[in-house]
Amino acid sequence: MKWDEMRQSQNVEDVRGSRRVGGGTVAGGLGLGGIIIAVIASLLFGLDPSQVIGTMSGGAPAQQQGQSAPINDQDAAFVRAVLGDTEDVWNSVFQKQVGQAYRAPKLVLFSGATPGACGTAQTAAGPFYCPVDEKIYLDMAFFQAISAAAGPDADFARAYAISHEVGHHIQNVLGIMGQVQDLQRRSDEVTGNALSVRLELQADCFAGVWGNSTAKRGYVSNTDLTAALNTASQIGDDYLQKRSRGYSSPETWTHGSSAQRVKWYKQGLSTGDIRQCDTFSVQNP
Ligand SMILES: [Zn+2]
Repeated sequence: MKWDEMRQSQNVEDVRGSRRVGGGTVAGGLGLGGIIIAVIASLLFGLDPSQVIGTMSGGAPAQQQGQSAPINDQDAAFVRAVLGDTEDVWNSVFQKQVGQAYRAPKLVLFSGATPGACGTAQTAAGPFYCPVDEKIYLDMAFFQAISAAAGPDADFARAYAISHEVGHHIQNVLGIMGQVQDLQRRSDEVTGNALSVRLELQADCFAGVWGNSTAKRGYVSNTDLTAALNTASQIGDDYLQKRSRGYSSPETWTHGSSAQRVKWYKQGLSTGDIRQCDTFSVQNP
């Protein structure tokens, strides 16, 4: 993936090294949250968990209070490049397909934990989008572990994680997220989960729309795209539930099955058209 040719975003807030919030760090620099993330990362990329945990402990030193954040390192440059490229692509897509200007999200790079409008962001939560402050929260230990253990092949899979969160921002800007949250407040749990699945699948489709543009411009290869689809096929609720407890209950799904995630990512990837990402009007997404 030729990310070093992408424009670097100015919307990354690097708060690594600022004062920690709460505890959670054990000897060796890796808290329980970090271990959970390491195990998830291992699942995603077929790696040995102990290798990833070792990399996270050694590669992401525990933050000391007052220590300044490392600047201009490769991982931060990667995040700035991917976010910058999503800004360029979504600017153009909004102009052509929505008829309004795109409002870009901020991305907070943190380590350990950081306060935010949606509560304290922690490594255990994985990357997430907060609609209140319109920020994506991303823990760098996770990214460093993936790249150190899986190498450059993991780049597009890491980019997929960012572009999925950007997808949630698009839903927020378009008012879809607010509508879904209103509906969820008035629904029972099973209906609420089904709405959550449609929301997540749409974010996957939007991530694919960005992928469509990167592929057209020659920034990603077929190998990169296969890696991203492989990631999508390993983060479906059925796959993760079966893997963790031996069976899967569709009514508890909140992100969709692996097949659904691959299908909607491909839908965005092949069309580059957000109108093809309407996961809400189809009967079976
Ligand atoms: Zn999501």
